[in-house]
Amino acid sequence: MTIASPVREIDRHGHTRPRSAKVHLFDSGAGRFALDVESGKIHQLPAGHANTLDATLRLGEAGRAELAALAFGIVSPAVDDFDTPGSVPVKAISLAVAQKCNLGCTYCYAQQGTFGGTAGDMPPDVAKAAIDQLVQAAEPGETLTLAFMGGEPLVNRRTLHASTRYAVSEAAARGIRIGFSMTTNATLLCDEDIELFQQYGFTLTVSLDGLDATHDRLRPYRSGKGSFGKVAGNVRSLLAVEQRRYRVLARVTVTPKNLDLPETMTGLLEMGFDAIMFSPMLSAPSGKDEMDAADLDRLLDQLIRCGESFREGLRQGRILPFSNVITTLQRIHSYQREQYPCGAGGGYMGVSADGGLYACHRFVNDEDGLMGDVFSGVDRDKQSRWLESRHLKQQSPCGTCWARYLCSGSCHYEAIRRGRPACDYIRGWLNYCLGLYTELLRAQPDSLKRILMSH
Ligand code: SF4
Ligand code: SF4
Repeated sequence: MTIASPVREIDRHGHTRPRSAKVHLFDSGAGRFALDVESGKIHQLPAGHANTLDATLRLGEAGRAELAALAFGIVSPAVDDFDTPGSVPVKAISLAVAQKCNLGCTYCYAQQGTFGGTAGDMPPDVAKAAIDQLVQAAEPGETLTLAFMGGEPLVNRRTLHASTRYAVSEAAARGIRIGFSMTTNATLLCDEDIELFQQYGFTLTVSLDGLDATHDRLRPYRSGKGSFGKVAGNVRSLLAVEQRRYRVLARVTVTPKNLDLPETMTGLLEMGFDAIMFSPMLSAPSGKDEMDAADLDRLLDQLIRCGESFREGLRQGRILPFSNVITTLQRIHSYQREQYPCGAGGGYMGVSADGGLYACHRFVNDEDGLMGDVFSGVDRDKQSRWLESRHLKQQSPCGTCWARYLCSGSCHYEAIRRGRPACDYIRGWLNYCLGLYTELLRAQPDSLKRILMSH
């Protein structure tokens, strides 16, 4: 079994940094390869070319290595054809229907849903105005997304249900399709909710930080009592519905306290989730449980172990629903030179309980991400300034990084609040997935095709 080694590119000052912004060399069980950063093409290298490029890059002579790569026909000239969009129509919003929560998670980015303000529910007229803004700006035939977030959205079940039904009828009246999603701690679910998910085909993301005691330690009720038993019971009910029309995903926020990823993945697969995703905690308002460099190294190691289980599953003809690897393989395959890491502040915005429009759910109540309000609409000047300042070409040190079109500068919120502490982890994971991609292309092309088509 070949495990592509994590990328540790340490310069003579002891700083980690990519060796070239134009070409990335990597090895896998299928051979030695170069990623041409501008085109996204992956070239298999004859040993002589690989050795020359590797030796030159190791000497820190990126310019010379890039000239050689140009001569070998494996890098394309850079074309700076990226215009910053002045404004982008909003196609997805999240409603913080409840800016409060029944749990007391130790690291909560939303400060138990209050986002540093007062706890409260979103009044129905705010939800209605937000939906009106979304639907009225769309053209017939388009597809929109309405997401419910919190705090815990089910604390305000009434607005959640009413908003869903209102959005369905308004969208239908204009010939627009609309999809629904919700991020939930899954402690408050009832049959009425399950009927709603079934009727409208929701995508549910359940926040789960591990199994049993691990989850209990990180995601207790406010009383301190653990919540895992309740969550597991509710997930069983969610997954037991026959001819289920909704998806149930598990999202694990990884902190230094729950780094046993393979064990967690096995347990969550046994629970029957449709997909599992791990995401590191990089910025908590309290600073508690944030990952440091050593934790991120360990995370990469653990994630690669999960990747190896995924690969083992493929050998047995199964595609494990491990989102981190599936979405990365898809991104490598459809290489797009993305200029933003996500739709935040562009096609996607978050709505606070009092009707503020923010760049995304994490910026709720944060002046840095304020974009207008649901009654007067998006402030186009603010949006335009955001799109200009958050564009990949403005992000440092991304211009020097070979991973920039796959990573696109990483989460805006985390970059603004904490900087970019996770670059080695991001590149290490991309490096592993590049290796996996080339191996599957050679040895299991049909499996790769199925992965690329899965969601
Ligand atoms: S944020 Fe992403 S693109 Fe920017 S330097 Fe880090 S890994 Fe590279
Ligand atoms: S800014 Fe960060 S938290 Fe917000 S949508 Fe983008 S990736 Fe997600």
